[in-house]
Parts: sequence; C-alpha cells; structure tokens
Amino acid sequence: MTKPYLTIDLNKITHNARVITQLCAHHGIEVIGVTKGTCGHPAVAHAMLRGGVVGIGESRLENIQRLRAAGVNTDFMLLRTPALSQVDDVIATVDVSLNSELSVIAALAQATHLHGKIHSIIIMVDLGDLREGVLPEDLNSLVEKVKTLNGVEIAGIGTNLSCYGGVVPSPDNMGRLVGLANDIENRLGSKLLTISGGNSSSLPLIASGQMPSRINQMRIGEAILLGRETLHRSAWPQTFQDVFQLQAEIIELKRKPSRPLGEIGEDAFGGIPEFVDQGERLRALLDVGREDIAIEGVKPLDSRLRILGASSDHLIVDVTAVADTVKVGDELSFSLNYAALLAAMTSPYVEKRVFKVPTDHE
Ligand SMILES: *Cc1c(COP(=O)(O)O)cnc(C)c1O
Repeated sequence: MTKPYLTIDLNKITHNARVITQLCAHHGIEVIGVTKGTCGHPAVAHAMLRGGVVGIGESRLENIQRLRAAGVNTDFMLLRTPALSQVDDVIATVDVSLNSELSVIAALAQATHLHGKIHSIIIMVDLGDLREGVLPEDLNSLVEKVKTLNGVEIAGIGTNLSCYGGVVPSPDNMGRLVGLANDIENRLGSKLLTISGGNSSSLPLIASGQMPSRINQMRIGEAILLGRETLHRSAWPQTFQDVFQLQAEIIELKRKPSRPLGEIGEDAFGGIPEFVDQGERLRALLDVGREDIAIEGVKPLDSRLRILGASSDHLIVDVTAVADTVKVGDELSFSLNYAALLAAMTSPYVEKRVFKVPTDHE
C-alpha cells in the first residue's frame, strides 16, 4: 500500500543553501538554516549544513531533540521565545535562544545553575512587525536587568520582519537595529557577537548591497527550502523551486456535472460553495485532503489540471484536459507553498521520500 508521498531532493536543498550562504558570506553575513518548515527533518538539516549554513534554527524543542538524536551535530538556535514552563528543557537542549521576556530570561538563568552551563540569548527587538520582540524604547532597561543575571550572556540582538505585519526590511529599520546594538555595546562595555537581522525577506536588501554592514547573521528557511524570497515570493536567482513535490493517487475517475445537484447548504468546513456550470467534466478524486495539505498552497505540476476543491481526505481535480491519458491508480504531482509544505511534513499520512544523488566529493 502506498500513501500520498512527498519527494525531497536533498541535492537541491544543498544547492539552494550554497547559493544563499555564498551571497550572504559576500556581505559578511553567516546563515542559520531554518528547518521548521520540514518539522525538523534530519536529512534536510544535513543537506543545509553541506550547503554552508553555520547552524540550525528551529521553533520547537521537539524538533531540535529529534535532530540531535538523529546525529545532526551543529549549533542549534531556538527561534520561538521559550515558554516559561520549558526553560529546563531549553537549557538542556540548545545553546542559543531568541528572547524578549525578562521573566523567561531570568528563569533560563536560574535553570543554568542546575545544568552548569552558560546559555546565550539574542534579544529580539520589534521594529514594527508586531510579532515578537521588545519595543526599541524598552531595550536598554531590559539589557540592564539581564546584565545582572548569572548564567545567561547576551550574544546579540535581532529582529524578525515580514512575518505578521508584513513589514519590509529597509536600510532604515536595519540601520535602527545597528544603532540599538551600538547603544547596548556602550552600556555593556563590550562588543555584541551577533546582530541577527532577519529571514528570507531580507535577501533582496542584502543582494542590493544596502544591508548595513554590521548585520552579521540571517536565519533562512523558505529561500533554501522553496527557492523564493518572501516579500513577493519571486523565485530567487540560481535556486531550485521544486525541491519538494507531492504525489497523490487517483482513487476515483468519473465524468460528472460541474454543479452539484439539489439545494446547496454548508460544505464540510462551514463554507457555502459556489459553482460555475462548465457542463460535464472528468473529475479525479485523490487520496489526500485538508488533513494533510493546505489546498490553497498546492498546484498541479501539469498546468492543464485544475484543483476544484478538497475535503478532509479527498482532493478533487479537473483532469478533462488530459482525459486520454489518465486512469485510476495514476499519480498526480503537485508543487507546494510554505503552508502546504508545513502541513504535508507534519502529516503522518504523507510519506516522506528523501533522495540524494552522491556528488563527486562523497
Ligand atoms: C521562521 C523563522 C525564520 C525563518 O523564516 P523564513 O521566512 O523561512 O526564512 C527566521 N526567524 C524566526 C524568528 C523565525 O521564526
């Protein structure tokens, strides 16, 4: 029995990582490879590391624990602000975390005593995107308080844009981050190791040469995994967009009208569907659904096919244009956006098929 499956081309991940890390290196920036879009898949992490990322960033501790257990030996960064209830596991599992709450940082400091470790933190500053981070005006007082805590050291400051508020990285907001770093250095009397400037949305600014030179780290996921910057989702030059492909099987194939028969109530997800009458169409029912994918984020590789809709366990595709060649049991291929990738990687019903062609140096 086969399941719907996702193919993962590790050579392409390594290639994409290399393109991005070389661009960043050219501008004095190191890259933390972010694997959270793949649920912390160990082979993906290895592939990114082969492509030159200096460490792996993950939003969830479980993913980092899985990566470590699978033998991924590198520096790990916890991207999501630790939960107070998790500080012990954070100290045991990672060496660097992104932080914005004094009470959490104090609890981390406390927990280091048990583990006999020093924990590094990067303090996140909210430069307008309104997800995580202290407001710039509150940064200095936070730093003053953190300075008094034993067990944590401030490795640097960082920011995250374009995630919630869609704020575009600019010379202005990045310059502001550098200015804040300078202030803190004066206060601490020492240099900050890291100024962690952003994610895949920062690539256009870096490539244009306008990223302030003191910004020395990026945390990059989507551009490596899907080959796109994230401001406009344009394909990033020299990278592959087809690292991941979803394959699902046709389990029913029939000509049916394009409009349902009878009175229309709510569909399975509470929407009131609307239909355009195109006469009879050849409809393929596939063995994958909303439980496994974000259907708005999948696209048939064959542009003649059209997704009509989905329920929990079925995807319905108009295959009229290829009627001569399809049959029950055939597989159809789809590309995925980030949301669809995340769902497919998380779904236990979607098998992950990793492949890698050995290269000359291996
Ligand atoms: C997810 C995440 C990233 C990576 O974002 P991409 O758009 O995938 O490059 C970077 N930093 C933080 C804090 C994140 O949560």
